[in-house]
Amino acid sequence: MEMKQEQLELIRHQLHRLQKAGGFYAKRLEGIDIDAIDSQQAFEKLPFTWKGDLRDAYPLGLQAVPDEEVVRIHSSSGTTGTPVIIPYTQQDVDDWAEMFSRCYSFAGVTNKDRIQITPGYGLWTAGIGFQLGCERLGAMAIPMGPGNTNKQLQMMIDMESTVLCATSSYALLLAEEIAKRGIKDKIKLKRGIIGSERWGEKMRRRIAEELGIELYDIYGLTEVYGPGIGINCKHNCGMHIWDDFIYIEIVDPKTGEVLPDGEPGELVITTLRKQGAPLIRYRTHDLTRIIPGKCACGSKFPRIDTIFGRTDDMVKVKGVNIFPSQIEALLSGIEGASSEYRFVIEHIDGKDTCRLSVEIEEGADRQDTAKRIGAAFKGKIGISVAVEAAAMGELPRSEKKSKRVFDNRE
Ligand code: ZN
Repeated sequence: MEMKQEQLELIRHQLHRLQKAGGFYAKRLEGIDIDAIDSQQAFEKLPFTWKGDLRDAYPLGLQAVPDEEVVRIHSSSGTTGTPVIIPYTQQDVDDWAEMFSRCYSFAGVTNKDRIQITPGYGLWTAGIGFQLGCERLGAMAIPMGPGNTNKQLQMMIDMESTVLCATSSYALLLAEEIAKRGIKDKIKLKRGIIGSERWGEKMRRRIAEELGIELYDIYGLTEVYGPGIGINCKHNCGMHIWDDFIYIEIVDPKTGEVLPDGEPGELVITTLRKQGAPLIRYRTHDLTRIIPGKCACGSKFPRIDTIFGRTDDMVKVKGVNIFPSQIEALLSGIEGASSEYRFVIEHIDGKDTCRLSVEIEEGADRQDTAKRIGAAFKGKIGISVAVEAAAMGELPRSEKKSKRVFDNRE
């Protein structure tokens, strides 16, 4: 994607400031002549920032403003080791509110809506972000936080909530509960804003149908404000990203090379206006692609695709990047194929070969289904695989999150 002149100006301003501010980026940018960064090409030579860098800066090494300007911190849930602490200035909080409010507007939410917020409030950025955006929009926030399904449903009925903000799994749980209790006619929900998790098309359809609502995917990460830096519009073809606040690139996760629009790779984010803890070329580990062209809604904001997965899940075969969600999507479209599979890559006689074992549903013609899977794989992903049909329950299950892709090349 072409960098806009105003984005370049904001980045240069940011870099100048960071070089003088002390802390993490002063060191990172030492010896770099900022004035020479006068084009996208020059910008793309700047080093990446990694999650590990942010952890190493614990607790406040990222802070790029004096203490008196910091109004709060947030923290990413450190599933592995040290968490990341992000300081915010008042301007950062206001910018975040602005972006989040824009997300609601894109989803058709107005100041007449009543927004039931079920993500958690606290150190992490979820609940509080939904609340900020809601207040900025002027809608009524119903700040429930997670859990207590009885209370959630009671409030949803009594307050006549029109918008539900939730994770996909909690939205599904509420939808099922509403169906079970037969209270659907008392529910006034029109829209759901779903954040943070990767979720399949099947789950999406179930939630939308059970609740009879439109669903929107909101994108974001704590390191970059939090949820609210992008959302899909009603045309549901990717998420619009607020490129007046952040600059996005897609890079090859292995080489770091910037990829052309349309090609899948790792999302890299640079903040344009952030004060408390700006980020330059931050590797998100999220896999997506920039969707080329303009959206049918006419918005000027660029789009990224639904997140395909994390970079750790990806393998590269014969120059083609393959990730589990692609295989899952492919199998879900083939009659007779179950969702259980194993994908194995080996290096035999000087070349990479792929084997895909799939459990075939009872009653389906195994050979025929395998043939259709092979053709779809070649057609959609672009490489040939040997497909092996397995009986239901035949493939090994693991206790842990089922690992399905095995790269045995080394
Ligand atoms: Zn659109």
